[in-house]
Order: sequence, then structure tokens, then C-alpha cells
Amino acid sequence: MKINQAKQIDDDQYFESIDQKDFMALSYPEQSKSKIKYVHDQFVKNAVNTKVNPLIISDHPKYYRHKVTATATNVKKHGKLQLKLGFYIENTHKIKPVFESVLHDKTIEKTLKNIEQLFIKYKITAYQKGHDRGIIKHVLIRKSYANDTLLVVFVTQGYLLPNAKRIIQELREKNEQIKSVVQIIQKNDTHIVLYGDEKTLYGPGYITDEIDGLRFRLSAKSFYQINPEQMMKLYHQGFELIDIKKHEYVMDCYSGIGTLSLLAAKKAKEVVAVEQNVSAVKDAIGNAKSNKISNVRFVKDDAANFIATYKQNVDVLIIDPPRIGVSQSFIEAIKKLKPKRILYISCFVETQVRDIKQLNRLYEVKAIQPVDMFPNTTHVENITTLYLK
Ligand code: SAH
Repeated sequence: MKINQAKQIDDDQYFESIDQKDFMALSYPEQSKSKIKYVHDQFVKNAVNTKVNPLIISDHPKYYRHKVTATATNVKKHGKLQLKLGFYIENTHKIKPVFESVLHDKTIEKTLKNIEQLFIKYKITAYQKGHDRGIIKHVLIRKSYANDTLLVVFVTQGYLLPNAKRIIQELREKNEQIKSVVQIIQKNDTHIVLYGDEKTLYGPGYITDEIDGLRFRLSAKSFYQINPEQMMKLYHQGFELIDIKKHEYVMDCYSGIGTLSLLAAKKAKEVVAVEQNVSAVKDAIGNAKSNKISNVRFVKDDAANFIATYKQNVDVLIIDPPRIGVSQSFIEAIKKLKPKRILYISCFVETQVRDIKQLNRLYEVKAIQPVDMFPNTTHVENITTLYLK
């Protein structure tokens, strides 16, 4: 199986890409076999020797995406430009103006259609690079699994969004699940979807979800796993494998809104978490407070920077980086800090193996546990645990 490289687009859009037809044509058991083989081959190729656990499969390999980012484009209708929402074709900047993806949650797709109709009704068009016209760049919708509520995000070129109040009012009449609407204002051309100032147009600016009785605030710009059922399995399995004890000190790097940090805090003595995205750190601090968890501290910093200067004892290190994995300086910092155990969660096995290989002398790979977070795509999430030799 060939795993495609994301060249110009960010992680977010990468997972939105829809052209994975060949892989989708495989039966689910065949897909699972192929993923296991891929993970196994990556580890074997890099001489990190150990056995791969069976893939944790999904009970719902379709309609699982609880976050969808549609991109706006214009089509000509009766000589006039009309907005159309669609999705990037994999590895390109081309947009396919289609819906009915087997991956997307159905309520989200229905809401996107309603939004498209309302934009057409109010003559709001897609921003056209180079033509200096149009407004809408992307529409993102996030859904809470526990509460069945929606957060809608309009990414626009500039501040202007005529009739925003009416559009939102009409939209809410059609979709009562919408609890908040946010505008992200971009002034320049950028390939990063969620870059720009944030303005709350309706509601509190976030929705909440639940994991194991803990409530989490999800805002527009913060990372949150897109497949809630598999996310739960990932977290449960990860904690079972790393087995944090009551007296242990934990560091959670790339902590996002603090999902792993708060779950770890319930098991550990103390947790320190580091994350670079300011929105995510704000969400995380709010999440700790609302769940009344006080043995956790969130730091807004570059993970490599933070770990390199950390002087206290760490028993368990959690790493959950983006596709690029961790940096060389991060690896050097681990070698100095020498945490007893490492829980490395990754959405891109190639970089994960590359990083683990560099820790080979100091650490033994204990478990490799792939999780099918993205059924019907070639992607696979993978847990690895490392123990200090
Ligand atoms: N552990 C979290 C988030 C994982 S996603 C969860 O399970 O939900 C990876 C996170 O790493 C993102 O929130 C991203 O903002 C953050 N990140 C990316 N590069 C970083 C860096 N250099 N330093 C710290 N955090 C970083």
C-alpha cells in the first residue's frame, strides 16, 4: 500500500482529501490486513524488532468523520457566479464540488448543504484568488459525539459577511443542533484553513464533548480526533498499555485541548502538558477547571523547547505529534530526560518509526498497537510503548 505524502496542504486538509477510491474498493477485512502489513513492514524495515498487535477495527467504517472542512468554489449558473462547497482532490489544490462522501457524518453533510443553499440565496460567493472578489473560503463543521451538537465555522477573506445574522438565524431554524457559529477572518492567501482572527457570530464559540465522564470544550482552531468511537478505543488502549501508577509523574507533549493530559491526571500524581497552539491551550485550561482537575499544568510552548529545559523527574512521557513526528532536538532531550516509559501515539507510522529508531539504544519497544481511526482511507493511527532498558 502506498501512503501518499502531503506536500503543500496541512494535516487537516490532508485527511479531508477524498480520492482514495482504490483503497475504498477493498473489503473492510482486506483494508485491515493491508494496514497491519503496512505497520509491520515499517517497523521491520527499520530494524525495530517486535510484533504488531491485531488492528483495533471500527464497528462503523462509514460516516464516522465528526469534523468536515469543505472548500468553497464558484460555478457559473445562468451567467452568474454561484457558490459551491466541495473537497480537495488528494494531493492537489483542485476542488471537487461533490458531497455524499461515505466518510462524513450525515448531519454534517446535511448542514453543509443547507449552508450552501443559504449562501446562494443571499448571493454570497466563494473568494476567488487573483480576482479580488467573493468572500467564503471554507466552511468547517465539528460535531459533538456525546451531545449531538454542532459548531459551524466560516472562513472568509476579510471581515465582510453580509446578512450573517439572517443566514445564521435561518440555518438554526433548519439545524437546531447548531450551538455556535464562528468566523475566521483571513487577510491574505494562505493554504492553512484555520489561520486568521476569530470572531464568534453565535453562541459561546465552542461546543463540548465527553470522554469517560470528562467534559471537553472544542473550539474552531483546536485539534480534536475526528472519529469519536475509535478515539475512545485509542485512548483506552493507550492507557492500558502504559499503565500509569498513582505515584507517577507524567509529561504530555503535543497535548491539544488536554484529552490525554486530563485522562492521565486521573491516574497519576501530576501531569505537565505542553502545546503550541494558543486556542488549544486555552481550551485545555478551561477543560481542567470545568472538570475540577488540579494536578495538571498546561504550558504554551514548542514541545522540543519545553522538554529540552525540563529538569524534574518524568516517569511517563506521552507524545502525540502531528504527521511530521518529533524533531532531532526533541529526541536528544528524551535521551537526557530518560523517562521510564513512553507512550508514542502517531497518525503517520513512517515518522513514528524514524523517531523510535533513534531511541533504540536506550528504549525497548514493548507494544505496537494500530487503531483504525480512518476506515476507508489508507491512514492508520498507531500506538507504540517504549520502556527504558
Ligand atoms: N494529544 C492531543 C492532540 C494531538 S494533535 C489529542 O489527542 O487530542 C497534535 C498537537 O500538537 C496539535 O494540537 C498541535 O497544535 C500540536 N503541535 C504541533 N506542533 C507542535 C510543537 N512543535 N510543539 C507543541 N505542540 C505542537
